[in-house]
Amino acid sequence: MMRALALILLATPALGSEDIPDQYPASLLYAKPVEVIPHVFTATGATAPPTYENAGHNNNLSFIVTGDGVIVINGSASFLLARALHEEIKAVTDQPVRLVIDENGQGHAMLGNSYWAALGVPVLAHEEAAAEFDETADQALIALRGYARENAEGTTIAPPTETFTDTKTITMGEVTVQVLHLGPAHSPGDTQVWIPQWGMMIAGDIAFHERMPPIFEGTCTSCWIETWDTAFAPLNPTYVIPGHGHPTNLAQVTRHTRDYVADLREKIAAHIAAGGDLAGAYYVDQSRWQHLDTFEDLATKNAGVVFSEMEFE
Ligand SMILES: [Zn+2]
Repeated sequence: MMRALALILLATPALGSEDIPDQYPASLLYAKPVEVIPHVFTATGATAPPTYENAGHNNNLSFIVTGDGVIVINGSASFLLARALHEEIKAVTDQPVRLVIDENGQGHAMLGNSYWAALGVPVLAHEEAAAEFDETADQALIALRGYARENAEGTTIAPPTETFTDTKTITMGEVTVQVLHLGPAHSPGDTQVWIPQWGMMIAGDIAFHERMPPIFEGTCTSCWIETWDTAFAPLNPTYVIPGHGHPTNLAQVTRHTRDYVADLREKIAAHIAAGGDLAGAYYVDQSRWQHLDTFEDLATKNAGVVFSEMEFE
């Protein structure tokens, strides 16, 4: 009886997990999209690094059925992954996809633009995200070919067709969507898609849970916290679809993103104040976050990056 219950819980489709290689074998997607609130769907990716099994679907791919067309959030990691998402969209609506919004300039947001571009769908991104993709797309495509093998087929580098600077308001059908760049956070041009009328924040990579957020060289972690406290949290969304991890709420992403970054900064500050060096910084105590997926991949790396950042503050 207990075992049967455990198996049922494991089959819950909306949870990303690094322990489950693929939740939707019939599709290239890691998981089938679920309707989070009326008209807003998301397919939650694995909370793991990209692999052959998850086909690079390790972030959230969302779409809004507006009544007069569909807005897709994230071009996705590849041409074929975008096509797989499109199949799911066509299964729930006859409305055409009229816009794609990329949440940042990373491969898993933008490499699948190639599919949407081939259909003539406009692709919108923040100007800094577009610039980052311009610099890193070659490497991202090589990485995709490495892990996805035949599933990289068809993927080319297709930059966004439109960019924005501060915010862009789009009304389509019954929905008004604010495309925001609230400030520096995880990577250049982080983009949030905010639907005030429904209290829904499609947050992109400013917000994580279930897995450890990655901190990149050049990321300003104090800025990330400031953007959170002064711009993101005050919008007070009821629902949050984070960049990674299943749909949730503000309290949960605050705990696993803002509070994690703040905690790591505190630990590194104490280490520096005690005269500690880089070699020791890797081992500051992050055991509080050990339950998060990708902890093994990222905890020490993040600590090193934050040490290098804070050494000069
Ligand atoms: Zn991401």
